[in-house]
Amino acid sequence: MTDVVNPATGEVFTRVSAASVGEVDAAVARAVDAFARWRWVAPGERARLLRRFAALVDAHVAELAELEVRNSGHTVGNARWEAGNVRDVLDYYAGAPERLTGRQIPVPGGLDVTVHEPLGVVGVIVPWNFPMPIAAWGFAPALAAGNTVVLKPAELTPLTALRLAELGREAGLPDGVFTVLPGEGSVVGERLVGHPAVRKICFTGSTEVGTRIMAACAAQVKRVTLELGGKSANLVFADADLEKAAATAPYAVFDNAGQDCCARSRILVQRPVYDRFLELLEPAVRAFRVEDPARETAEMGPLISATQRDRVAGYVDGARVAFTGSRPDGPGFWHAPTVLLADSPADRHWREEIFGPVVSVLPFDDEADGVRLANDTDYGLSGSIWTRDVGRALRVARAVESGTLSVNSHSSVRYWTPFGGMKRSGLGRELGPDALHAFTDVKNVFISTEE
Ligand code: NAD
Repeated sequence: MTDVVNPATGEVFTRVSAASVGEVDAAVARAVDAFARWRWVAPGERARLLRRFAALVDAHVAELAELEVRNSGHTVGNARWEAGNVRDVLDYYAGAPERLTGRQIPVPGGLDVTVHEPLGVVGVIVPWNFPMPIAAWGFAPALAAGNTVVLKPAELTPLTALRLAELGREAGLPDGVFTVLPGEGSVVGERLVGHPAVRKICFTGSTEVGTRIMAACAAQVKRVTLELGGKSANLVFADADLEKAAATAPYAVFDNAGQDCCARSRILVQRPVYDRFLELLEPAVRAFRVEDPARETAEMGPLISATQRDRVAGYVDGARVAFTGSRPDGPGFWHAPTVLLADSPADRHWREEIFGPVVSVLPFDDEADGVRLANDTDYGLSGSIWTRDVGRALRVARAVESGTLSVNSHSSVRYWTPFGGMKRSGLGRELGPDALHAFTDVKNVFISTEE
């Protein structure tokens, strides 16, 4: 059994049993068995079941959000958005079974067609920072394409995934089609990765674990999608709308207490407006509402655990603090929003993913310097560009090595569009119209027309 803790109070409020290797094997066997039928369920019927699942999630948004507030310390506003995102992703991919078309390719001597075949059992491994959306980005397209799914939530945050599995059953998904198995990464996660009947791993988490999973998948030529860490840049040019850039910068990094792989945790400001930008940033950071995440007004809650809070604090110790926001006193895993001034791009807080409410600021000289500094990282997940010059926006957007960029905005995740990382931030893309192809193999069939 694993304790489930409320990060806002530090109190254990329930316990969840952790699955054993034997239980993983049994779940995979059921998923293999279910696959034999699920893949042949008529496309329209599969679509109907996913729509019904989406409707049930919609009817339980408040309940799912409340669970996430308690289990993960997410603000209630964010948690409602997250449950709504699960609904939307299910609805979006419910359109897929009936549109998963192949091609007819002109060849001599017959007819040639391609078919997108489901892979089989897909293992989805989820981190603790966005338990609901990240689960759905894996299971919704996987199920839509005709696969069955065994999903492992993070040790710290199993509750919403377990509830989603119940809603899936209630919607009519047959037994074994979608199973949620809480447990340790080293037990459940490793067994999913090593199990020969699991044909694909869809992993979101740290670059360190993702690297090991990729190596383990290689042994079986197992398909793998990786969504890993980030250290994204927020590039603010001198010609930008500085008021807007400064007012929005805190949300781009302190949202979800900075436990966001897309956090714009490196702010690069062009030298002539560096001081003015910091002047504008300070009141925005001080006004950021850090409070009980269940309150409607909360903009930031606690960190997920004492360990995470202490890790984050370790980056602030000895660094040059420009200013901080507030945090509640008392129990819970709180850390105030913090702005650090980087002395150089070699600073540890500038280079490493902190995964907490800490942002580092550094000036840059010209466009080339800004792009060079933005790309001076092993990561490449996300980023923002603030400028009024359209040509520059396009040049810089092409030059920054990141999978998901936004101009005069901090948007990263939209379920209609591809999401994923370059370099060590990941492999493959989730969401958007192409994600289905990450859950299928193309089969080519030639039919001779010769007599
Ligand atoms: P983590 O890598 O420690 O764990 C992620 C998941 O993997 C958990 O469910 C864990 O139990 C499991 N796991 C751990 N060891 C395993 C093993 N040996 N084999 C199989 N599974 C194993 O990451 P975390 O601390 O939960 O999450 C934070 C990280 O996730 C951050 O680095 C963050 O940037 C990243 N992240 C990336 C994205 C993205 O889309 N790129 C999104 C969210 C989080």
